Amino acid sequence: ASRPLAGRVAVVTGASSGIGEASARHLAALGARVAVLARRRDRLDELAARIEKDGGQALALAVDVTDAAAVQSAADRVAAEFGDADLVFNNAGVMLPSPVGEVATHLWQRQIDLNISGLMNVIGAFTPQLIRAAAERGVADLINTSSIAAQNIFPTFAVYSGSKAYVSHLSRHLRTELGPKKVRVSAVEPGIVGTELQSHVTDEGAREWLEGSRETTEWLTSQDVAETVGFLAGLPPRVNLQQVTIMPTGQV
Ligand code: NDP
Repeated sequence: ASRPLAGRVAVVTGASSGIGEASARHLAALGARVAVLARRRDRLDELAARIEKDGGQALALAVDVTDAAAVQSAADRVAAEFGDADLVFNNAGVMLPSPVGEVATHLWQRQIDLNISGLMNVIGAFTPQLIRAAAERGVADLINTSSIAAQNIFPTFAVYSGSKAYVSHLSRHLRTELGPKKVRVSAVEPGIVGTELQSHVTDEGAREWLEGSRETTEWLTSQDVAETVGFLAGLPPRVNLQQVTIMPTGQV
């Protein structure tokens, strides 16, 4: 098989499970060296070992992306070990629906802290590397994980959806700044993907809705999204898919 991403240095956040884990493996299979970030060190170590066993190169960095200083240290480690990152898959996120009248401020805060502030910490720490790498190598990618929730309306998902609308809108703006510097910015907006994301949902109504959906609809797999990420990064440097919505065929 060809290795279209050979020579590239990828960073994947939220790599200890789900979409991030599948994407890290896939980008490595396409030839990139991959730094994998999340909080669960054991899962990252296993992932890195698996990538290396499959012939790739990986660097496991246990980091809470809501900690800006820790993300900056991780960025410095990546540059020291692999050189400047030229592909950042900014993917860590959490979905915690609740009816607004319950005023579950701790759930609102966790989503805002990770999906918005954590995302920005990663952008802050890695953008200088992306710009340098693009100048040297001709192209770099910042791929942010948004959601169909950024576009569609789902009751009880307001804070999550708001955080993902932020991701999509931010991405459109950033590409106008970074595109001229050869850094492509994309937002990936998946519909439902079977991952650990659903297991964190505590709201009974949302759980029932998700379980009903799982019974009637064949959800996407993490691999489906991983292949989309690989496709974006492998496009000719002049081509930037700014927004990709990937849905289970049966999801309405
Ligand atoms: P998972 O729950 O499987 O993955 C989330 C990842 O984020 C984990 O690796 C988790 O690892 C990591 N993470 C959580 N908190 C932090 C933190 N503070 N610092 C660093 N990493 C953290 O879910 P998905 O794979 O589904 O989610 C990935 C992205 O996809 C999210 O942004 C989600 O919103 C988005 N998405 C998912 C959809 C779905 O249906 N699954 C649909 C649309 C979008 P750890 O706990 O080890 O830190």
